[in-house]
Amino acid sequence: MLPEIDIIGQEKLAESSIAIIGLGGLGSPSSIYLAASGIGVLNLFDDDVVELSNLQRQIIFDSSDIGERKNLAAKKKLLNLNENIVCNSFSERIGEANIDDCLENSEYVIDCSDNFETRKIINEYCFRTKKDLISGACIGWKGQIFNFKFSSSESPCYECLFEGLDEEDLSCRESSIFSPLAGLIGTFLAIETIKNILKLNYSEENFLEINSLTNEIKKRKMVINSFCKICSNK
Ligand SMILES: [Zn+2]
Repeated sequence: MLPEIDIIGQEKLAESSIAIIGLGGLGSPSSIYLAASGIGVLNLFDDDVVELSNLQRQIIFDSSDIGERKNLAAKKKLLNLNENIVCNSFSERIGEANIDDCLENSEYVIDCSDNFETRKIINEYCFRTKKDLISGACIGWKGQIFNFKFSSSESPCYECLFEGLDEEDLSCRESSIFSPLAGLIGTFLAIETIKNILKLNYSEENFLEINSLTNEIKKRKMVINSFCKICSNK
């Protein structure tokens, strides 16, 4: 019923295909909202198993899922929520060798992975194939949301912002996270993805930084690094 969406917009959502890489604290809320929004095809990727310690933030799972494969447990929940979507789920770990095959059938990519190495591989793939990359991260009380609109603009890329950082500098895997913040960032990933599909994205090359301890929300400018080894020819 929102005039910006209407029936035409709802049809666009139904014709879209999205890959969600990582079904943890960020992938849980984003996949739930995207399934509920009627996205046509969701392709889920996670090679992990549900553990008790996941449940405070990975809200797509409950205690009956402990020990189950995340990709299968999530698929079941999403199809229960909306039986009219197509949901494919894979337990492959995305890497350089398989990313082209894994993401071939997805027009949009949401990076909810928990390590820097995977993020860089996804960034390179999305830049090369001109697919929008919506990416989130959170550590402690702080989180960030990035929207790299490779399909429609000369967007900076993830490497432009995080060149030179490696796994030890920025990893959600081993760090503590304020769990409702993961919900907020994951929900924002769904917001950005839906707006990209509907071409409703008004925010230009910015990323959003949220501090959930102080409630500061900042829009920060993203600029192309002219020496970036991924997106710059120099
Ligand atoms: Zn770049």
